[in-house]
This record gives sequence, C-alpha cells and structure tokens, in this order.
Amino acid sequence: MKIDLRELFAKNALLILTPEDIGPSAREFISKYGSYMRLAGIEAKRESGYAIFPSKTAPVEQEHTAMFEEWVAITDKLRVETSVVMNFYTDRWFARDPKYQSVSARGNAVTHQVCPNREEFWEYGAEIVKELGSYPIREIMVFGTGFIRDSFCFCERCREAFAPRVGQEPARLNYGYITENPDYHRAWHEWRTEIVMSGLAQLAAAAREADELTERAEPLQLTVEIPIDPQTGLLEGAKTENGLDPARIFDVTKSVVLNLYPWTPVLPRKGTPEHDRLLEALYFAKDYKRRGGSVVLYRWGVSSGEKVDEVMAIARDAEIDRVAVSFRFPESYAERRESAIGGV
Ligand SMILES: [Zn+2]
Repeated sequence: MKIDLRELFAKNALLILTPEDIGPSAREFISKYGSYMRLAGIEAKRESGYAIFPSKTAPVEQEHTAMFEEWVAITDKLRVETSVVMNFYTDRWFARDPKYQSVSARGNAVTHQVCPNREEFWEYGAEIVKELGSYPIREIMVFGTGFIRDSFCFCERCREAFAPRVGQEPARLNYGYITENPDYHRAWHEWRTEIVMSGLAQLAAAAREADELTERAEPLQLTVEIPIDPQTGLLEGAKTENGLDPARIFDVTKSVVLNLYPWTPVLPRKGTPEHDRLLEALYFAKDYKRRGGSVVLYRWGVSSGEKVDEVMAIARDAEIDRVAVSFRFPESYAERRESAIGGV
C-alpha cells in the first residue's frame, strides 16, 4: 500500500498515525511533512492495551516512547494541534483476565473488550487520561467506549447487578427474558447507558484534574467515539446497542467522534435512500455545534486521497467541520467485527 502522505495532510483532515506510520524518528517524519501539518493525531494507547508513551499505569511498548515524547514536543513547538487516541474498553491486555472480560448472551467471553461495569477499570482509564493530560496536547479521543452490542454484557457481575431490576435470578437472566418485555428492554438500555456515562464521567474528571496540573490555555478536550453503522442501526443503534447517547455525552464532554461505517466497507452514494438515512442520523451534529459542542467524522482504513474526499463530502453535507482518518484497520478488526455484528 503506497500512501501519499503529503496529499493527505494537505486535505486538512486529522490523520491519526501509529508508530508504524511515523517510523523511529518523529523529527525525521515532521521535517518531511511538517510544512503540510496543521493537525496531527497519534495513537497513544492501543487496542492491545499497550501505551506507546512512558505510562506508569498501562503496559508500555518501550521501543516507541522516545518517538512519542519527541513527537509531542515538536508538534507543540510548531503549534500543530495534537490529538491522541486512547482505546478504553477495547483493551486486550486487561481483557486477558477472565474477571474483566465482557461476555455475550450466549456465554462467550470476548478477549478484546473489558466489561464496562468495572469501577476499578474506570480508575485505571482515569489515571491514563491524567498521564496523557500532562503532555501539551489538545485532545484525547477515547475509542472503544461502549458495550459491544445489545446482547452484552452477561458476565456474572452484570447479571448480578441487573437481574434484580427485572425480578429475575441472576443465574436465570437471559437475553430472551429481557427483550420479550419492552419495559425490561428499556431498563436494560438505561442501565447500560448509566454505566457507560459513569465511566466517561470519571475520565472527564481526570481531564479536569490534568488541566489544574498543567498550564493549558484551553481545557483538554475529551472526545468520545460513537459508532455509526447501518448494520447496527446508525445513531439509534449507538444508543441502544452500545449505550452511547450523544445528548448524554454532551453533558459530560461536549465532544464526540463519529466512527463512520466501522463494519461496512462501502459508504453510501449521494441521492440514495441509504445516504439520506445517514444524513438524518447525523442531523444532531448541527445542534451539537450550535450549543458549543464538537463533532468529528472519522473513518478507519482510509488510505487514499479519494477515500478521504468521500468522508469529507459526507461531513460537508452533514455540516460537520472536523474530519479524521486512520490508514489502517484496527489490529483485531475481524474479531471485533464478528462480536459487533456477527453471531458471538
Ligand atoms: Zn459485564
């Protein structure tokens, strides 16, 4: 895959780079492309759970820490606005431990996503936000923030917490029992949204703490990923399947990144009903902006100028000002797609 980075930087989309994209020397990369860069993104905590900065909390890929620190220092000096990506519940290192794995309604544990119903994991994430917030960055984009889908999470802890709310024994709670009663199903959605929001509130509090410890002119922005995919019901699906409601997130961080068609390879063409449905789902972005919030339209696996243009055209139609892309698909894409829309 040959990527023309100059062409992509010139489009003024936020490119979210990995250490593999940048190479061993941040200085070398920036001396080559710096004059085209106004914005820069770098993945700081990967879905593997590893940090590429010298974290005292998360496990670290030591070979990248010098590059990360150099990257942040130089972009700050050049006044390039830097965003870093932090994967939150998507964390294969933490999810090795069966105690933290998210479990599907069929009883299958996934090893790439931590159950969101874990206060100690929120504290873990909050520590990482504070660590990242000590660098001169503008924003942390938090990916992997919600439940995998409606049929998650059926781990022991979630069953024990939710079953009494619908008059059931934890051991006998199953997905059919919840979905056959609309009141129970609604209670399930509300309970899961509450959990996600509590986790995000903890991260937001950590960002404010980081502000107090640094002399940042603008508060550190915490931007929360919301998947928008036709196979999971677009925005309605994000609310019910994942527990991610932009209106609720507005009250906590005022900033979201919409992951456009994460599980669907082809974007809709203008003039098609699918395109209309997408724009309808993105309509809330105008209201967000009007109220002082921020919306980023993001797509992964975008490796050519034409593909960036496709995302930018949708952003323009939806009146979304910020576009972000990454060249690669997530490392465990097939597995994550299977758990999000397959038969796990
Ligand atoms: Zn759980």
